Amino acid sequence: MDLLTTNDKQGEHPASYYAASANALDRFAPLKGDQSCDVCVIGGGYTGLSTALHLAQNGFDVILLEAQRIGFGASGRNGGQVGSGQRLEQNDLEKMLGKPRAHQLWELAEESKATVRNLIGEHKIECGYKPGVLHTELAPKNVRHTAQYIEKLQNEYRYEQIEFFDRKQVCDALGTSAYWGGSMDWGAGHLHPLNFAIGLAKACVKAGVRIFEQSRVSDISHGDPAKVTTQNGAVKANFVALGANGYLGNLEPTVANRVMPINNFIVATEPLGEKQARALIRDNVAVADSKFVVNYFRLSDDNRLLFGGGESYGYKFPSDIASKARTPMLQIFPQLADTKIDFAWGGTLAITMNRMPDFRRLAPNIFSASGYSGHGVAMATLAGKLMSEAICGTATRFDIMADVPGRSFPGGAMMRSPLLALAMSWYSFRDRM
Ligand SMILES: Cc1cc2nc3c(=O)[nH]c(=O)nc-3n(C[C@H](O)[C@H](O)[C@H](O)COP(=O)(O)OP(=O)(O)OC[C@H]3O[C@@H](n4cnc5c(N)ncnc54)[C@H](O)[C@@H]3O)c2cc1C
Repeated sequence: MDLLTTNDKQGEHPASYYAASANALDRFAPLKGDQSCDVCVIGGGYTGLSTALHLAQNGFDVILLEAQRIGFGASGRNGGQVGSGQRLEQNDLEKMLGKPRAHQLWELAEESKATVRNLIGEHKIECGYKPGVLHTELAPKNVRHTAQYIEKLQNEYRYEQIEFFDRKQVCDALGTSAYWGGSMDWGAGHLHPLNFAIGLAKACVKAGVRIFEQSRVSDISHGDPAKVTTQNGAVKANFVALGANGYLGNLEPTVANRVMPINNFIVATEPLGEKQARALIRDNVAVADSKFVVNYFRLSDDNRLLFGGGESYGYKFPSDIASKARTPMLQIFPQLADTKIDFAWGGTLAITMNRMPDFRRLAPNIFSASGYSGHGVAMATLAGKLMSEAICGTATRFDIMADVPGRSFPGGAMMRSPLLALAMSWYSFRDRM
């Protein structure tokens, strides 16, 4: 199934709350004819935009090709959470890679959040960044682990911006009694994801990047220079950086074998007013819980509850998207039963077998980063910086990520859809237990 066209209108953002509250950005013309440049970047999400921006700031001549619109993909539709750490806990990374490498990965993750904040500051990106992510526990038996993990981060990783919340503290902070404890992380934060992408695109233009929208890449011909082909044009480039993530399809089969697309859904309620909104989330932080198909939520600037979650067993969005995320929302906040849903949308992210992103060289001059497994707002932004460093000639930090061992999905890209259905049934069963 072609995820670039199946669930959305050609050349349009989905009808999300984010699109309805997006900052203005003029459309970019499609690529026509032959062009050449130092670096051709594929994909107009955080990975591609950050790569293009960092390279252009280093004096490279960059062309960015986006199949639809800037921020069309996950980057324009996500939960907006700028999370700490990698997608895996440090305990798991230590077991997998040993302590020194786990520490390197933690440091990179810390840099990823700082990169987001610095880009917002440097380019005056209006995306309403706010500090604070509260991770909440649905099962009382896991609360002890949360407390121990916080202590570990404080003592071994010198991460002081996180504190333990017991059941009472979580209940006081959120208008729900669903949770048994959690971690309040003031070093993490949340933002308007599409406006962050739009701000990066504007910074790219200022730095000299040539952006083309509605320019779907149909072929990457490896070589020196490489040749990137779209329907109405082609780009010859000394380097290629691939950031197509969940919308990659089979453009690069070695990536597709390791990165599986998966859909997720968000609803936005009607504006609740400051008082009712703060009765749900007292400190205006973002929240993510411990359900396997995670519930995540936060308030918008106009006091709507934006609530994400919901399973999907295939790649076609369901006809009633709203019920996908409204159902888990009412499990957490039954008091919203009569609240109107103004927007409901879906998006495609990409996961890997081990939930660590897939950084790889497809050829000496072709780099790829994707598969952030639901943890890509900060990590994809950093991936762009690391790909740009690698293209500038220093790949040390790109290689720290690329050296994390990953695996292909069993059966490769062909088996992804049935495998997804199977996996989701299992995890949804596990969540209900
Ligand atoms: C509903 C949802 C909620 C999420 N919530 C969070 C969250 O709260 N926190 C978090 O950290 N992460 C979250 N994520 C994940 C996060 O959004 C992604 O990891 C991140 O946006 C990935 O950025 P990207 O640039 O790699 O991919 P994308 O933003 O998907 O961009 C890829 C781009 O490539 C383009 N493209 C694809 N193929 C081609 C081609 N052939 N030619 C040209 N262009 C092409 C696409 O059109 C797309 O614009 C969420 C994702 C979803 C879908």
